Amino acid sequence: GEVHHRCQLLVLGGGPGGYSAAFRAADLGLDVLLVEREAVLGGVCLNVGCIPSKALLHLAAGIEARTHLAQAGIVFEAPKIELERVRAHRDEVVGRLTKGLAGMAKARGVRVLQAEGRLVGPHHLEVRRMEGDPARPSGTVEIVEFEQAILAAGSRPVRLPFQPDDPRVVDSTGALALPLLPRRMLVVGGGIIGLEMGTVYAAFGATVDVVEATADLFPGADRDLVRVWEKKNAGRFGALYRNTRTTALEARDDGIWARFEGEAAPKEAQRYDLVLVAVGRRSNGPLLGLEAAGVHLDERGFIPVDPQRRTNVSHVFAIGDLTGNPMLAHKAVHEGHVAAEAAAGRKAAFDALQIPSVAYTDPEIAWAGLTETEAKARGLKVEKAVFPWAASGRAIANGCEEGFTKLLFDAETHRLVGGAIVGAGAGDLIGEICLAIEMGAEAGDIARTIHPHPTLIETVGLAAEVAEGSCTDLP
Ligand code: FAD
Repeated sequence: GEVHHRCQLLVLGGGPGGYSAAFRAADLGLDVLLVEREAVLGGVCLNVGCIPSKALLHLAAGIEARTHLAQAGIVFEAPKIELERVRAHRDEVVGRLTKGLAGMAKARGVRVLQAEGRLVGPHHLEVRRMEGDPARPSGTVEIVEFEQAILAAGSRPVRLPFQPDDPRVVDSTGALALPLLPRRMLVVGGGIIGLEMGTVYAAFGATVDVVEATADLFPGADRDLVRVWEKKNAGRFGALYRNTRTTALEARDDGIWARFEGEAAPKEAQRYDLVLVAVGRRSNGPLLGLEAAGVHLDERGFIPVDPQRRTNVSHVFAIGDLTGNPMLAHKAVHEGHVAAEAAAGRKAAFDALQIPSVAYTDPEIAWAGLTETEAKARGLKVEKAVFPWAASGRAIANGCEEGFTKLLFDAETHRLVGGAIVGAGAGDLIGEICLAIEMGAEAGDIARTIHPHPTLIETVGLAAEVAEGSCTDLP
């Protein structure tokens, strides 16, 4: 058939993985075509993920700060939430970033095609145009011929089999849209996404119940971190049901009625104004026509890749949520850079020693490298050092002394292999731990690094001093 577009490198999907790959490849001299079905770049992360959720969490933190201020004698009236203006604020934050991306694509000469793509051969993608360009009305089908491709089509939320089609039952995208201010809300799934959105709605005045199928909230995080979150949130959230399954959601005039199965769960159906289903995300791999190009998928729909992020077909790469867990923007970006460099003929490989995870809840929970649970499961000998924030002058001054900083060192090499922080701003503070793990730092390296005082980041240095057995009482 006729070929409408030719490129050296096709990038399919304009999320963090895709735009990072496209920009790096263009910087390295490749002729790049980026195919994205949405009108704006940024993917899930910028449009309906990381960024809007953090914009709302920042507002929630402002509301919650009143409690600390009131204890210190500064009392505000109850907040008045003007939902329309909150939505506009969220859109403004997102819009600034997506416009920036469009400008960056243009500056690098990356061509962006707004279309939905599907592979029809090892070097051909069929695209269905999405925009209303009069010369190419939406629905027009065209063919792209490429030398190499980087697949970055991301993931989508998992739906429950019994989930009713009702505006009061939403996924994370629907929850970020702020359709209403519920009085009673149910979050199905006690992972990071569910608990972040629950934090927002709780601050906005809802009683938020959470149902988690596994034994604990924040699966993947060490339990000692989760306990700190639970203590602080006991009065903010409604019921937190663990080892519990939601078995039915029924839409009635007066609300969504949910049924549960589990020891501690209520036997009677519960009524909610809004239900967020946050039970995980599924790779878009099965929707891309991979078989036409001979690209393999695993049984979970993820695309297996090598350290350069090549699929089994050597001129086709895959990155980001498509390739599996952890589904995180910073992993997608790093993989995008590796794949772009490999496509441009550079030596590159994904060999990260750590990929940080952060729950931007209150308190934040962040961890990097090995967790204690993982170290135990692998039979690794690690030495643990903990510095409680109750001993940090800055934490006390800031009213956030419930946190702690934990470091895990390999018992033989004494190198830092993991670390975690629970407390205000933990997601920012974990950065030093990420770098220390990558650099192979030992406790002494961190302990003898002069940290600014009084800060929360100095708890990383103090934890390292605990590991050295030389903790002085600095606070
Ligand atoms: P995506 O961002 O999913 O982008 C894929 C793009 O491909 C999309 O724009 C899609 O429209 C496009 N596309 C798909 N199929 C086609 C097709 N056939 N043709 C054309 N275009 C197509 N991660 C973090 O690291 N930190 C966070 O704080 C964080 N918060 C999150 C909060 C929420 C509510 C959610 C849902 C996710 C969050 N994540 C967070 C995860 C993060 O958003 C993803 O890991 C990240 O977006 C993955 O990037 P990606 O490039 O692989 O794919």
